[in-house]
Amino acid sequence: MESIWIAVFALLGVAIGSFLNVCIDRLPAHRSLVFPASHCTSCQSRISLKDLIPVFSYLWLRGRCRYCQAPIPKRLLWVEIGNGAILAFLYWHYGFGIELAVIAFYFCLFLVLLVIDLEHHLILNKVVYPSIIVALALSIFLPELDSVPSVASAAAGGAIGLGLFLLITVVSRGGMGWGDVKMAALIGLVTGFPLILVALLLAVILGGLVAWIMILLKARSRKQSIPFGPFLALATMVTLLWGSDILNWYLGFF
Ligand SMILES: [Zn+2]
Repeated sequence: MESIWIAVFALLGVAIGSFLNVCIDRLPAHRSLVFPASHCTSCQSRISLKDLIPVFSYLWLRGRCRYCQAPIPKRLLWVEIGNGAILAFLYWHYGFGIELAVIAFYFCLFLVLLVIDLEHHLILNKVVYPSIIVALALSIFLPELDSVPSVASAAAGGAIGLGLFLLITVVSRGGMGWGDVKMAALIGLVTGFPLILVALLLAVILGGLVAWIMILLKARSRKQSIPFGPFLALATMVTLLWGSDILNWYLGFF
């Protein structure tokens, strides 16, 4: 029975992933999430319902528009499959309940922030600001959930995220953008104190590691900047799942 539910959540995750793709495509372009209906960005043909089935349509059409053969971005497929895997895993990890709904919401949110920053080097206020309000509301109304920090903890986490990244931005003079500062504040509200420190440290380690590997592989020069948002997003996902374990493991050394 359990495996049936895992499959159901995988399918639900894929369907939600399809909507996340719409958000990723339209939010940076300041377009409505509802109108117009999905269309090919190359030939503008409206995409019929039978070609909008997540994953299957992409494979069936071999990744090309039915009308003009323009390639459909692979990201559409990866976000759908990735979000399906995420939701199946989260259900397996948390079981059914409000906790699952809250964590699934945060994973979808940080997946959208991750992909938009990767593609556009942008962290959008219209994603971050409403999320700050949601995070605050969760702390006020559902502080009894394990993964939701108390209001005091969230406020401390938000202040630390904001303060640390403000400092880094001023000191590094443009090494970090204002979007990163606001996102760090959001992450502080989501994880609370002291887990914000785990999230930020993981992001810095992950970002440094990837930058170092890319220089080694000569995939980029030292001067080229890579967006930091994706690392913040990944680090937050790991912290939401295992932040307390990581912190306890680390404190065990003292
Ligand atoms: Zn087309």
